[in-house]
Amino acid sequence: MTVRVGINGYGTIGKRVADAVSKMPDMELVGVAKITPDYGALIARSKGYRLYTLSDRLDLFRKKGIEVDGTIEDLLSEIDVIIDTTPGGYGLRYKGLYRKYSVKMIFQGGEKPEVADISFNTLCNYRDAIGRESVRVVSCNTTGLLRLICTLNSYYPIERVRAIIIRRAADPKEIKRGPVNAIVPNPISIPSHHGIDVKTVLPWLDIITSAVIVPTTLMHVHIVNIWFKEKINIEYIIEALEHNERIALIDSRVTGIKSTAEIVEVARDLGRYRYDVPELIVWKDSLYVNGRELMLIQAVHQESIVVPENIDAIRALMRIVDDPMESFKLTNKVLGIKGRLI
Ligand code: NAD
Repeated sequence: MTVRVGINGYGTIGKRVADAVSKMPDMELVGVAKITPDYGALIARSKGYRLYTLSDRLDLFRKKGIEVDGTIEDLLSEIDVIIDTTPGGYGLRYKGLYRKYSVKMIFQGGEKPEVADISFNTLCNYRDAIGRESVRVVSCNTTGLLRLICTLNSYYPIERVRAIIIRRAADPKEIKRGPVNAIVPNPISIPSHHGIDVKTVLPWLDIITSAVIVPTTLMHVHIVNIWFKEKINIEYIIEALEHNERIALIDSRVTGIKSTAEIVEVARDLGRYRYDVPELIVWKDSLYVNGRELMLIQAVHQESIVVPENIDAIRALMRIVDDPMESFKLTNKVLGIKGRLI
């Protein structure tokens, strides 16, 4: 079965998910919807993607000489699944329209959890999403935390998690966000929403997070402290992390990679498209184990980490794959995700 997929919102996440969908053997990218006739629209066209917009925007595109294939309603009438990658809050406004066309819906982490039947992460709750009408793929930070937590919890049951999230201020393309010269607790009150968001997928977990925003655009960094229900062995922790293809362990003592800047430099030097790093990066030499306690430092490439989870979510909603690991492996294989940065 080939699933026909549409993307609404062709920005940071939408363009990456569109490229990923177009590569999958069991999916067809029918087209992308955009509201602004800008360079993004020209790039979509240059890639051969069919382009759709709102009916009252058709003229805007035509005036700029950008060919459009139809309205968003035209797109919806041709697809099985819509991936909503509009800015946070817009997805809910579109939901009624999506429903009218009886398409399955995938929303992103900027939406409130109530927008969808469940919040989603492949390794944590793929089976719960099978056959649902809608899921919300949680945000980049939440995806990073969940990949780690569900990987380790399958080796040793987790008692509680405490994490500090050091957030990038903006994506590289953004020109209207800061901070420029400050570290901004976000929010000052603890907990931050990240741990609360993790609980939308793992309601049983005792997790508290706190976050600060710093003046960088490259990646987020998390300092994570996990207490397990039993004494842990560092060798098994390493084995668990190495076993997961969506986690890349790096050792700064061997590679010299000691910062997010160097992670991105490696991705650029390796010729990764857009320098994307969809793997969760965990510094092996940050691992601290003492009895039941683990601490580590990890880095999240906010622009790309949620892409593989969006692909898996399509298979779960459409019931084309029942086994989470089958989808996980297929997505990884097609996207070249192999559990290592270098
Ligand atoms: P973005 O601003 O880069 O892209 C959004 C796109 O939607 C833009 O192309 C914009 O023109 C378009 N758009 C705006 N209003 C629209 C409308 N009414 N109809 C159709 N399209 C419209 O945003 P993004 O960073 O890709 O974020 C999209 C979603 O993904 C949000 O929920 C966000 O929270 C989530 N997310 C973002 C990141 C990240 O770091 N950028 C990471 C994970 C999840």
